[in-house]
Amino acid sequence: MLVYADNAATTKMSKLAIETMLPYFDNIYGNPSSLHSVGQEAKEALEAARKTVAECLGCEPREIYFTSGGSEADNQAIQSAAWFGARKGKKHIISTAFEHHAVLHTLEKLRKEGFEITLLDVKENHNVSAQQVKDAIREDTCLVTCMYANNEIGSVLPIGEIGAVCKAAGVPFHTDAVQAAGHLHIDVKAQNIDMLSLSAHKFHGPKGVGVLYARRGMPLVNVIEGGAQERGKRAGTENIAGICALAAALQDACSHIDENAAKVTAMRDKLIEGLSQIPHCALNGDPVNRLPGNVSFCFEGIEGESLLLYLDAMGISASSGSACTSGSLDPSHVLLAIGRVHDVAHGSLRLSLSHYNTMEEMDHILHCVPQVVQQLRNMSPVWRELQNGERTYIL
Ligand SMILES: *Cc1c(COP(=O)(O)O)cnc(C)c1O
Repeated sequence: MLVYADNAATTKMSKLAIETMLPYFDNIYGNPSSLHSVGQEAKEALEAARKTVAECLGCEPREIYFTSGGSEADNQAIQSAAWFGARKGKKHIISTAFEHHAVLHTLEKLRKEGFEITLLDVKENHNVSAQQVKDAIREDTCLVTCMYANNEIGSVLPIGEIGAVCKAAGVPFHTDAVQAAGHLHIDVKAQNIDMLSLSAHKFHGPKGVGVLYARRGMPLVNVIEGGAQERGKRAGTENIAGICALAAALQDACSHIDENAAKVTAMRDKLIEGLSQIPHCALNGDPVNRLPGNVSFCFEGIEGESLLLYLDAMGISASSGSACTSGSLDPSHVLLAIGRVHDVAHGSLRLSLSHYNTMEEMDHILHCVPQVVQQLRNMSPVWRELQNGERTYIL
């Protein structure tokens, strides 16, 4: 049995998304900037996709900018607010300690350019509160950027409340909604969101295409300079096939949000209940306000990477959450931010589900994970010390 449980990293494209793309590689190959009818056909498809995305988010089509993905949208949103803030002498930005690197690394760059960055603590409930945001806002705050839902531990932030706080204070609010779009209800107007990022490959669309929503009147600076595409705010010939597939996948996901969430939540809760029986473990992330498909645990006395390799051999694709992207052995910044100590953070496992998963697959996971954890513990010198009492358990 092959079980794909790494949907927070990327998702399998839906048949609908694949079929939506195909004509744009074949008959509808025009450049939307061309004035002739071949170009205009592509232009019509582009604008239809923009309208569809706007309907899904509750905004106007002219507030939608297509990008190369979530990372680019995050970069553009944050750089725009920073640039505009600096012009008014406001150089303070509020965010959270468990953002995606697309946000954190952009903020780090701004910090070196003289911006002051406040990263809100996420130890309480593995989440932030609107009150924390309110308390952090200053006269010189030019942006609040808080993710909608965390990609590693699944916490869903109180976005509507944070939006209301920002609106009352007159501070622009951006949210990285890459994990939320297509999975949770979003209404940018009702939630007072000024800018929002999303990415197609997290909701069964293609990789390399995303959206920046920017409320009308929000000033944008260009991350990519060149032609006048996307109302002059994002140069480059549009990825029409990707954009149309993004729109189709988002519409499909949004029109099945409740039924998919119910199905995925039932599988998630089965895994959380089953894995909680393993001794000396802890659930990561907000236990209540949580993404339907996220299961994240730390198991004391093991290495997450070994666990992953063993599970892969048993047909289960998961993630450790400890991003060794840089090749360093540092554990995940998210797990450290919620207060896990290094040793514990190294023993992490993230299983992220989609509506393509089945209950039989959950049974397989629940059969394999406890067995592999025990096997790894039996080989672990750390576990032996814990058992001997030479070391004290943390979990
Ligand atoms: C995947 C992800 C991103 C990056 O999106 P890309 O389209 O891969 O650039 C940003 N933020 C979060 C929360 C994500 O999960």
